Amino acid sequence: MKKLLGHTPDSLKEIAAACGLPAFAGKQIAQWLYQKKVRDIGGMTNLSKAGREALAAEYEVGITPPSDCRQSSDGTRKYLFPVVCQVGNKEERFNVEAVMIPEEDRRTLCISSQAGCRMGCRFCATGHLGFHGNLSAADILSQIIAVDESDDLTNIVFMGMGEPLDNYDNVRRVIEVLTAPWGFGWSPKRITLSTIGVIPKLERFLAETRCHLAVSLHNPFPDERRDIMPVQKAFDIRDVIDLLHRYDFSGQRRVSFEYTMFSGLNDDKRHADALVRLLRGLECRVNLIRFHRIPGFEGAPPSEGVMTVFRDRVAASGIPCTIRASRGEDIDAACGMLAGKKQLP
Ligand code: SF4
Repeated sequence: MKKLLGHTPDSLKEIAAACGLPAFAGKQIAQWLYQKKVRDIGGMTNLSKAGREALAAEYEVGITPPSDCRQSSDGTRKYLFPVVCQVGNKEERFNVEAVMIPEEDRRTLCISSQAGCRMGCRFCATGHLGFHGNLSAADILSQIIAVDESDDLTNIVFMGMGEPLDNYDNVRRVIEVLTAPWGFGWSPKRITLSTIGVIPKLERFLAETRCHLAVSLHNPFPDERRDIMPVQKAFDIRDVIDLLHRYDFSGQRRVSFEYTMFSGLNDDKRHADALVRLLRGLECRVNLIRFHRIPGFEGAPPSEGVMTVFRDRVAASGIPCTIRASRGEDIDAACGMLAGKKQLP
């Protein structure tokens, strides 16, 4: 069955026409999908009964409910979503995760864009799964609509499973649905995309959207970065930063750098100073993340004290630098831990 979720009013107009519905039904269907968040076509009550039946013969709305939800002691909730991905001629079943992080005045949903990931970052549980397919726009939007907190979400971050710029066309469509007046009508300031720096798609993202950007940096020395992030061989972090210098991040749009800290690997003053040199002149901030241990990677987190010294050294250069609080570690929902596992209660 084909899915309506992810279509624009223009493509819905064509679908409507093929089902014998008037052209303006395209806009009506978009309203049902993105503003009223209807679960099935039968609920689109301003379409004719015959039109709804013709539509339902070929399409479904496309919302997949979560198959599991676990709550952390800190209130973070991790949802598990079953997806079916097309890999070549083959269909693969997989589980992806979305994580809802509550804060005093925010409800942020961290969503997945791929089943697994082909980027192979050594410290990341998703990277260890390998690549099992791109999520469709419907699969990604479904995560946003199907969580219990859907109507209260304040922010979306593309920081879950997968490299969003490796599935750019579908991610771009989701951003369009989230920000268009016919869609969710959100400001792009409520959306952040996190990438390890896939340069050609990053250029498109910067030109085509106004969303915030987070770049996974993790080591300022190219040879050391290459040891933990194979992407460095294809797209040098220095070239990523050169590209960012061509854009304005002094106003509404922000760029931040994610820096996961590993004991003895990237946490000394040599690294802090090189990080400052690399980012000099760019309006940005740095978020330090304590590494969360995963099976298959020998790294360990540094102590609080080491992280504080590192933060203070970077901040003293004038670059805002903070240590990000870990959320949801007890349910494997923290950064780098997502592996699509169903956990037994
Ligand atoms: Fe993929 Fe991101 Fe994990 Fe790297 S850190 S393997 S890009 S999900």
